[in-house]
Amino acid sequence: MQPAFCCAYLKKDEWVQKMKTIISHVPAKTTTSYQCAKCKTKYRSKARALQCELLITEEKAFKVGDRVRWCEELHCSAVNKNYWMDGKVQKILGPALPDFEYNAKWLGGKLFDKHIFMYEVSWKCPHCKLSCSGRYYSLELGKIKSGSRK
Ligand SMILES: [Zn+2]
Ligand SMILES: [Zn+2]
Repeated sequence: MQPAFCCAYLKKDEWVQKMKTIISHVPAKTTTSYQCAKCKTKYRSKARALQCELLITEEKAFKVGDRVRWCEELHCSAVNKNYWMDGKVQKILGPALPDFEYNAKWLGGKLFDKHIFMYEVSWKCPHCKLSCSGRYYSLELGKIKSGSRK
């Protein structure tokens, strides 16, 4: 055996043994998390969970079955035309915290410091008749009055 190799090997072995001893003396870590009662988000800090619980919950703007439209025109790629959504609220999700980036980028931060609801909307494309669905925040949707043809 090469003496150099033997020496290195022994050293490594000693080191491993030491590491083992140290590891066995580390007490088992218990992590505690605190859950916001409103949105069920888990926090490592109790203060942050409490802070979340203090945030208001927005009023539900729509109910299941409501006719709604998105604030912008939608695009049908099949015929390359835009159209206005004529959708129906299928489901209401939440309360939850709004997506941080989406809120900051597209909604001007209007949803910060709020528990919000999301509305699952389904509609049919008037051009290609394809069934579509998506999730939207209340401030992106508008109610379509019944009887309105648009
Ligand atoms: Zn919360
Ligand atoms: Zn279409």
